[in-house]
Amino acid sequence: MRQSLRLGVIAGIPVGVHWSVLVVAILIWQMLALAVVPAGAPGRWLLAAAGAVVFLASLLAHELAHALVGRLYGVRADRVTLWVFGGVTEFRTAAPHPRADLFTAVAGPAASALCGAVAAGIALPLGGGSGWLGGVAATLRWLAAINLLLAVFNLLPGAPLDGGRVLRAVLWWWRGDRGRADVTAARVGRVLGAGLIALGVAQLLVAGDPGGIWLALIGWLLSAAAVAEANAGRYRAALGELPVRAVMRPEVVCADPGWTVADAEAALTSPSAGGVVAVRARDGRPAAVVRSGDLDRIPPAQRAELPVSRLADAVPVVEAAQPLADVAGPVSRAGTALVVQDGRLVGVLERAAVVEAVRRGPAETPSRPAETPSRPADTPGRPPLSG
Ligand SMILES: [Zn+2]
Repeated sequence: MRQSLRLGVIAGIPVGVHWSVLVVAILIWQMLALAVVPAGAPGRWLLAAAGAVVFLASLLAHELAHALVGRLYGVRADRVTLWVFGGVTEFRTAAPHPRADLFTAVAGPAASALCGAVAAGIALPLGGGSGWLGGVAATLRWLAAINLLLAVFNLLPGAPLDGGRVLRAVLWWWRGDRGRADVTAARVGRVLGAGLIALGVAQLLVAGDPGGIWLALIGWLLSAAAVAEANAGRYRAALGELPVRAVMRPEVVCADPGWTVADAEAALTSPSAGGVVAVRARDGRPAAVVRSGDLDRIPPAQRAELPVSRLADAVPVVEAAQPLADVAGPVSRAGTALVVQDGRLVGVLERAAVVEAVRRGPAETPSRPAETPSRPADTPGRPPLSG
């Protein structure tokens, strides 16, 4: 997730917010001022603003707990970001064993529960009342309740919720197959998502509460994320940690900036092209391809003039060392992907090669070292597809 505003680097992990978090901040601020802080409390709006900020900080604490505990087990977090639906910790590497997976997952809800307990502990001696202290106590009680609710909600046992990760870790430990555990946890996540959508719609239609829209949206997001996780899990079960490099075609023809359709046509006659010419974006990064079939529909008279870049289709760009399982879904949908290593174009990955690797499984697919491309492209690389 892109960070619109970087808040800082905590223990080496970039922490930031996506602009959409503003929506939540404003909603919580309003809700606290109008429904939680007593109407007579002095500085009511200021107090509500402070409550909203502390709430966002407690979401960050939840995500940082995931990131820091993951790091204890060597799982690297790329960044922690807050957005409209909460926090996201993006991990670069997978947990090495079920225990690491379990503790990394549990750390977030544990941090939320701790935040809730601390808020409740401070609120308790303050008591009620409608003065300033009463306002502080009411805000703290709300913070305690919402953090405990978040801890419980996140422990629902469907991926990608933390409880789904816990379920995955337990199944992984029990059956010894991370891919299958991924698929099962994601299936439960889909059911949970559907349940939340139904609850949200009922809340809206039966109780007339517009808060149901929010619940339904969260359910829909959960379902969509669970489908993506199930697909990745299926690929992981079939492919293990097989890297992209092992199944890519290590020859690639890359168009020069001034190439016309005729130039590409000539290049495509070479067997090393394999029916595909890579095309760079304006900034020089490999980003698109032209296939032989694309050129046939251009009238011969235009071929010597028309820049080939006009016909290029944007495709995924993946890293040679990345696990194939992480990118197999997007590559299968796109049909073709370009493979880079240290920013250099080193190969082409075709859907057929992914299908073949899935059919044979990781043990029978020979690992192939990266070779020098036929046209080296010294361009800066793109980050891998999966965050
Ligand atoms: Zn979490």
